[in-house]
Amino acid sequence: MVTIIGGGIAGTVLAGALARDGISATVYERRDAVGAGAFLVLDGPAHETLGELGVDTSALRAISHPVNGLAVHEVSCASRVVPGAGRRLYFRPQLMRVLTDFAAAANADIRYGCAVGAFDGDTVRVGAEAVPVAGPLIAADGIDSMVRACLEPDRPAVYADQVVVYGVTDNAVPLPSEQSLLHFQIHRVGDGPRTDAFGHLWNDRIAAWFARITRPAISGQDVGFHPTATWADAVRAVAPDIPDVVESMLADTDRVHVSNARDVPLTAALPPRDDVVLCGDADHAISPAAGVGAREAIEDARALHRAITTDTSIAAAMATRRADIVRERTQARRPRN
Ligand SMILES: Cc1cc2nc3c(=O)[nH]c(=O)nc-3n(C[C@H](O)[C@H](O)[C@H](O)COP(=O)(O)OP(=O)(O)OC[C@H]3O[C@@H](n4cnc5c(N)ncnc54)[C@H](O)[C@@H]3O)c2cc1C
Repeated sequence: MVTIIGGGIAGTVLAGALARDGISATVYERRDAVGAGAFLVLDGPAHETLGELGVDTSALRAISHPVNGLAVHEVSCASRVVPGAGRRLYFRPQLMRVLTDFAAAANADIRYGCAVGAFDGDTVRVGAEAVPVAGPLIAADGIDSMVRACLEPDRPAVYADQVVVYGVTDNAVPLPSEQSLLHFQIHRVGDGPRTDAFGHLWNDRIAAWFARITRPAISGQDVGFHPTATWADAVRAVAPDIPDVVESMLADTDRVHVSNARDVPLTAALPPRDDVVLCGDADHAISPAAGVGAREAIEDARALHRAITTDTSIAAAMATRRADIVRERTQARRPRN
């Protein structure tokens, strides 16, 4: 028996995979339904891991869009295209629908509309009720994890210096750029190493775009959807070299989702425990700019699934995950020749 807080990507996948192996997991998810929010890209390893855990990869293919390559365009540099390597673009509601169908088919016990208000080591507070924690507690409760706040109050999420604006056009918009490539227009900020970016991908069914803008954080109450016009000038400033693409996207986008890019640093994290572990964004969220947070959360779910089904230490499994994540992120930051 396992208790999971958070029925997002990691919690849902883990609960479904455990239930398939006959291990019951109770998931408490505060929202009535999951899946609101922007689009995201899952890479090849994320898809392999989902397949390994039993998620129907043909259902994933049916709802997603191929990313044939990453095309990076920077002023005064030659454009370069990196192979897509199995990446696909998802709208979050559709991805969550496939994952919740997977968990439901395995008879996982996911309780929506159940916010967990506190954790005291033995019980979780669900509404007015103190519920004893059955088995280990997996905190998959996202970047503002209540459990991390209880266990490690000195490790809050920190602003990563960029506001991210996500938009999806109301119609398919044919553009002058090559379709099914994720184009990044890189815009250097001043003379320093910082870069802003405008990204877009289109095909004959959809057109999606984002902007990453270096600036002070927006207030918590401003996180969410806004009319496109509110952010249009800031978006234009990020991609001055492709005004035709930007204007086509802005003109056909009704509203944008705006949020602060944030990280949960792993430096100074307390060691994972066997009675309670943090999983996914709750433990090591990384700015959307990295494009790997969801894959890391899915890989955490696989590591925990393996530990629980083989009756080995979940603390050791998450300690190994953290070491792998730190190594991979360090490699990703190394300049390439
Ligand atoms: C704009 C944006 C773009 C991104 N793009 C990408 C991308 O392209 N590729 C990529 O790999 N990653 C991307 N990410 C990161 C990715 O979304 C996260 O890493 C991923 O969602 C983490 O999964 P998770 O299950 O750990 O957390 P979440 O998916 O956030 O799930 C946490 C769940 O816990 C629930 N919860 C929280 N508190 C409680 C509580 N007290 N009680 C009960 N339930 C609770 C929440 O409602 C939520 O459903 C992006 C993130 C953002 C913000």
